[in-house]
Amino acid sequence: MAWQVEVDKEKCVGDEQCVEVCPVDVYEMVDGKADPVNADECLGCESCVEVCEEGAITVTEV
Ligand code: SF4
Repeated sequence: MAWQVEVDKEKCVGDEQCVEVCPVDVYEMVDGKADPVNADECLGCESCVEVCEEGAITVTEV
């Protein structure tokens, strides 16, 4: 199963909640915004979606 991880950079406030919660280190901070640089590792757990108060993250099965 593969997952597509997207961050809406307009909504992201850079609080790093997703960076901390992701069990497989999908996210890195780039220019103050979360960037899903390791999206290939995503497990589809949606913990990052739940923790993001800004609703900036979408995870979809592809
Ligand atoms: S869905 Fe889970 S594994 Fe995938 S990026 Fe979010 S926290 Fe990480």
